[in-house]
Amino acid sequence: MPELAEVEYYRKEWDAGLRRTITRVAVHAEKRLFRGGDMTRLAAQMPGAKLLGSEARAKQMLFRFSRDLWLGVHLGMTGKLRAEPPDFAPGRHDHLVLFQKSCALVFTDPRMFGRVLFHEGRQPPAWWTALPPAVTAPEFTPELVRAFLQKRARLAVKAALLVQSAFPGVGNWMADEILWRAKIVPGALCGTLTKARAAALWREAREVCNGALATVAVDFSDPPDDWFYHERWSPDGHCPRDGSALRTATIGGRTTRWCPRCQR
Ligand SMILES: [Zn+2]
Repeated sequence: MPELAEVEYYRKEWDAGLRRTITRVAVHAEKRLFRGGDMTRLAAQMPGAKLLGSEARAKQMLFRFSRDLWLGVHLGMTGKLRAEPPDFAPGRHDHLVLFQKSCALVFTDPRMFGRVLFHEGRQPPAWWTALPPAVTAPEFTPELVRAFLQKRARLAVKAALLVQSAFPGVGNWMADEILWRAKIVPGALCGTLTKARAAALWREAREVCNGALATVAVDFSDPPDDWFYHERWSPDGHCPRDGSALRTATIGGRTTRWCPRCQR
């Protein structure tokens, strides 16, 4: 499942086509990832429109075109965006290709858990404006985090971090990174966290999201060397702070790793 930074990386792949006109569309309109969208209409309306800009919020992307056209993309598990030369011949998994004079903007998704939505109108689609504030946005406040933790008092904090309506774009490794930095044990119930710990969770969530956007999202490079990330993926990982062997368990259905000494 792509996380915040990966989504941002793929969004920027289509920057290759910014301010350029779509000349032709190739779409596998019958595929399930286009359900709920009129792709025949998209194929008819898009030629002649210019790609004006795009934005990512959590795992959602919105591409804005001239003529009041909008394209929403959710990558799902295996979706990817890339740019190819203009004479690109779409393969079996290239379900949507927007051709321009100088390049082809390609959406590929072998397993088709992704989603593509087409919208026409002056304003962005309602599903977009209803998305929760990004973890890096000013609207994402310590109070918001604390209220959420209180509401989910019986939920393990690791599972809480994966709730997309509260921590949009935070995926599994990011949640482990946040908890390691905040020195909170992943199995702790949300209702038991003090105000200070909730504030630490808020602060580290922002740090990790900003850090991931500054590294992974730029060129898919790894986060900085002192991040928990590197040890997290290693089978015999050790805490970067104190060298303790990491523990592993399944929490909220996801593999979770933590340091038994500094996360309590
Ligand atoms: Zn430690």
